[in-house]
Amino acid sequence: MDPVSNASNDIDSFVSALSPEEKASLGSGAAFWVTKRTAGLPAVVMEDGPHGVRHQPGDVDHMGIAPSDPATCFPPATALAQTWDPELVERVGEALGTEARSFGTDVLLGPGVNIKRDPRCGRNFEYFSEDPLLSGRMGAAWVRGLQRRGAGASVKHFAANNQEFERMRYSSDIDERPLREIYLRSFEHVVREARPWTVMAAYNRLNGVPATENHWLLTEVLRDEWGFDGLVVSDWGAVGDRVRAVRGGLDLQMPGGDAASDQEVVDAVRRGELDESVVTERARRAVQLAWRVDEARRARPDAAFDVDRHHRLAREVAGRAVVLLQNDGGVLPLSPEGGSIAVIGPFAVEPRIQGGGSSRVVPTKVDVAVDEIRAIAGSAAIAVADGYRYDGGDAERLRAEAARCAAGADVAVVFLGLTAAEEAEGTDRPGIDLPVHQLELLAAVAAVQPRTVAVVVHGGVVRLHEVAARVPAVLDGSLLGQAGGGAIADVLFGRVNPAGRLAETVPLRLEDAPSFPTYPGDQLHVRYGEGLFVGYRGYDRMKRDVAFPFGHGLSYTTFEYRDLHVGTTDDGIDVTVTVANTGTRGGHEVVQVYLAKDGGVQRPPVELKAFRSVRLAPGESSAVRLSIPREDLAHWDIALHRWVVEGGTYTVHAGASSRDLRLSQEVDVAADAVRRPFTEDSTIGELLVHPVGARALAQVMRHGAGQAQNTASQELGIDAQESGLRIPVGRVRSLSGGAALPKAELERLLEAVNAELGD
Ligand code: BGC
Repeated sequence: MDPVSNASNDIDSFVSALSPEEKASLGSGAAFWVTKRTAGLPAVVMEDGPHGVRHQPGDVDHMGIAPSDPATCFPPATALAQTWDPELVERVGEALGTEARSFGTDVLLGPGVNIKRDPRCGRNFEYFSEDPLLSGRMGAAWVRGLQRRGAGASVKHFAANNQEFERMRYSSDIDERPLREIYLRSFEHVVREARPWTVMAAYNRLNGVPATENHWLLTEVLRDEWGFDGLVVSDWGAVGDRVRAVRGGLDLQMPGGDAASDQEVVDAVRRGELDESVVTERARRAVQLAWRVDEARRARPDAAFDVDRHHRLAREVAGRAVVLLQNDGGVLPLSPEGGSIAVIGPFAVEPRIQGGGSSRVVPTKVDVAVDEIRAIAGSAAIAVADGYRYDGGDAERLRAEAARCAAGADVAVVFLGLTAAEEAEGTDRPGIDLPVHQLELLAAVAAVQPRTVAVVVHGGVVRLHEVAARVPAVLDGSLLGQAGGGAIADVLFGRVNPAGRLAETVPLRLEDAPSFPTYPGDQLHVRYGEGLFVGYRGYDRMKRDVAFPFGHGLSYTTFEYRDLHVGTTDDGIDVTVTVANTGTRGGHEVVQVYLAKDGGVQRPPVELKAFRSVRLAPGESSAVRLSIPREDLAHWDIALHRWVVEGGTYTVHAGASSRDLRLSQEVDVAADAVRRPFTEDSTIGELLVHPVGARALAQVMRHGAGQAQNTASQELGIDAQESGLRIPVGRVRSLSGGAALPKAELERLLEAVNAELGD
């Protein structure tokens, strides 16, 4: 048999022919980025990711320090998410796949679909959103595109890796419901919908157990429930105990080179501490990946990619990611003809295109904003001023010079933002404020130039309240990749009508963030005390004002919503809403559908359930159809440990952001048929709604509080009947001094009621 051919597809016989040593050896890499050639298998090359290929021809490292070959630096995930356009993200995935193949990269280490729980997480620029639906949809699109081009994805960091502080040691302690509904949901969507070749187990612990050793996470949830059929690789250096990791469900330890840990696996099997079938199963996954890679290499031999075409795509996507946060008095777009424009701030000449750490790509070229502004500005005169230094030095002089420059122009564009040193993998940010010297500069410019536009360059959320209060127009320049400078110029002059929408709430102040009290935890445990109320779910629940809400973003045109129609089918809820472009420019509107429900289980006030980006010409309208799959109506039931759709009336809202809900309609949804057996903990009230329970309890109630007692308690403001209904049936006996519901009678009662429930 040809050892590397998958034509026969006889993976079982291939694996069973391997020796115990060979099987164990397949579970760890050969070197930093490659797996072993055990039994003639091809060595799989795995490299970062996610927003470009970091192919290091010489020295290697996992923090983006040693040089790598130039590759297109696409907008990082934080910007991709702001497009709210999975089709666009899929095109980025395809381009990344083509580049990966051109470098001989078989698995590109991304996307990162962790939830942005706290604004300070130093790696938020690598993640999509605070919302699991948006993160999941974007992640799945990215994976589909990448894998279509013959490179595999590695969805990371599985799971609940939401801060960099003590990232290799802390435990994310999360209740079952938020874990399922928020933190695992994005991964679940990507795994089920896009079938990634690999999933990367995170550095942190989850509820006390290291992610790399977590059987519940890696085996019961990922494989048994979600049907994951790929390979689980560790984050680089995330394995502490190889044998426990193998037992838990880890297939591959990276980086490679740790032969001693292979021997530990062999010894553990020999000693009977590890079942050989487990090691065989892990080896099977490694062989399967190697065969997949082999097939992909044959189908798409490595070829150079088109640098210019990919740069153009990077610019298109970056343009779609820019969010117009505020545009009072229609300062934007700028007119390319005539007049003069003051461009202020070092980011205009030294673009910041990405965050630091393992995702850092060496770009093929970089658009410089001021050059791109000049190129579009036509006959407008451009004056440039530094405005400030990153370290805040020489502030007074630079401020005065910038103010003179702004006063002499018709409009000022001021670039503000975070420096590379302020946000990178491995550390969190201490806060979300922009440097004081930048705000003082802005104030000085705004004092002399009422037509001032602020462009904010940043990966993680920054506090924008003071910026928005000072100037009429604010553009969220995010981290836009190598073509970001061109994209900002495109938006400033209206060549691109801004279509980006925030994927993360901008709070008024850090202390408002729902995670604020519990971040970064205590004694290496971070308790996710806000539960389900993450991001906008929390700000809404606490009725907190925010600077800019989740989903917010303006356009140079206006959109009107009408005719919301909502209906249910067996598959979920269908929504149609007509959106009209009522302005004079073509543009994209992102139609967002949120769901609410009163009563029943606790829920955030609204939750994003569907969205669609539509392009409309001036005057054009379109009936936009969206659907909410029935599984997205479910909540995680902590008694039954499964998803359950609650029956009842739901409110469907359609709008332009989580706080700009334009139209609403109620719809009745049928409940899932669930068997919820009565127990000793069921209350009298719960049993009374059941016919058998009601009959049996009629007897019991006669032993309970009499009418006289009832009247007396009412006078004291106590509703004896109401509180009686809330007594668990298992407590009736002791409360009645042994008179009512003795043990045998209670058991008979529960049995009878449960028998009627059926299976
Ligand atoms: C990061 C991963 C990355 C890996 C390899 C780790 O430090 O957490 O995201 O893929 O290094 O560079």
